Amino acid sequence: MERDKYLSAIKPRMPEKRYIHTIGVMETALSLARKYDEDLSAAETAAILHDIAKYADEEWMRTIVKENNLDGRLVNWGSEILHGPVGAWIAETEFNITNEDILNAIRFHTTGRAGMSRLEKIIYIADMIEPNRKFDGVEKLRKVAEEDLDLAMKACIIHSIRFLAKSEQPIYPVSIECFNDVISRNA
Ligand code: GDP
Ligand code: FE
Ligand code: FE
Ligand code: FE
Repeated sequence: MERDKYLSAIKPRMPEKRYIHTIGVMETALSLARKYDEDLSAAETAAILHDIAKYADEEWMRTIVKENNLDGRLVNWGSEILHGPVGAWIAETEFNITNEDILNAIRFHTTGRAGMSRLEKIIYIADMIEPNRKFDGVEKLRKVAEEDLDLAMKACIIHSIRFLAKSEQPIYPVSIECFNDVISRNA
């Protein structure tokens, strides 16, 4: 396992609170991976690296998006939306991660997407329900995650879209694509 290497790489790039969140995501992702029979090493790596770009400079991230031809829609959005795709780029270029499933789990951990893999769902859900998260409804999400991965993904994306709409925040198209996909799959 590359756990210590990745943990020491992320630690100086984020405040203590975000590091503690990351440890929570790692533990939750490992627990979900065990339950739903996903590769533990892949879950661990994706979880540790998921927020590696969270505190990167926004303009630098826009430059990375342009220079590397990442999704063109990204340039009009802020670091909340940029840090997943740019984090995946860092994982690939700095840590030489080639496993596309790990890269996608990092890339789409904020928005989800249509057609998520099991690993992508695990990271998305773990990010939302790790033990340090506190918001109304999180206990219900934790309970569903113990029972059914797809129902948990559905409950999480519904929670997220509801929250964004209620607080009048713009919704990134990929988040909507995720919502539409998940809703049509488990009608
Ligand atoms: P974190 O990095 O661990 O805080 O969690 P995430 O990467 O999942 O989310 C970062 C922020 O992006 C949160 O405040 C989410 O509410 C927000 N977010 C998620 N999806 C969208 C979206 O479609 N549009 C906007 N504007 N924000 C979003
Ligand atoms: Fe994040
Ligand atoms: Fe999230
Ligand atoms: Fe996170």
